[in-house]
Amino acid sequence: MTFPPIAMLHHIGDDAVLDDHKPYSITRSSFIRLLDYIERNGIETKDFSSWTAQSSSIFSKQIMLTIDDCYRHLLDFAIPELQRRKMRAILYMPTAHMGGNNSWDVEQGKSSVEIMNESELKDVAAAGFEIGVHAHNHVPLDELSTEEIHKELHTSKDILEKLLGTSVKTMAYPFGRVPENYGSILKANGFDFGLGIYHPKGDRYAIRRFIYHDGDQEKHLNSKLSLSYRVYRQLTDRNK
Ligand SMILES: [Zn+2]
Repeated sequence: MTFPPIAMLHHIGDDAVLDDHKPYSITRSSFIRLLDYIERNGIETKDFSSWTAQSSSIFSKQIMLTIDDCYRHLLDFAIPELQRRKMRAILYMPTAHMGGNNSWDVEQGKSSVEIMNESELKDVAAAGFEIGVHAHNHVPLDELSTEEIHKELHTSKDILEKLLGTSVKTMAYPFGRVPENYGSILKANGFDFGLGIYHPKGDRYAIRRFIYHDGDQEKHLNSKLSLSYRVYRQLTDRNK
């Protein structure tokens, strides 16, 4: 199983309040630069349902755009821009914070940013965007007991499945923190895929993602999306 390159995004906007969140916040023009690059190079944007529905190889020109935390400001620009270009993306919602804010950042002295509420998330899903679990509370799962991790995951999965009326099969670990025994825990809760950031034992339950930030220019994208990077991934990721 060869995963396409997967970009990790959070905030996309020019509001000064988002400056606190660099490099996890990018400007509108940085986002446009990424989408233009994808279009110009004939790269197909995939989500997990379209990716699993079709066989692909290491030579397939594909990318997954993942957006963590489901901030409300995405509705102003990023989501409409993706729709206009007919591009796919996957959004990861920490369900306890739906309609609230990024309290985990605020506790660290960073600015508060609103998160989509239930009806906004439903609209995004209805527009064709895939939604995944980002735990119920936005907490580092590797600091919880196995029982607590199960609770975080199945609570969140239940809420999203009831709200959206679809099955939710993918999740992203808050802070990219992958707990021990992640594979058996995800499997037991009915997940097919889990997204980390970097994990030495990268596999389908701890898939690697790269951060896209304001400093990334064409040459950086060339290397992040290169064939040699994908060959490296093929060699180092466990294929199971
Ligand atoms: Zn997050």
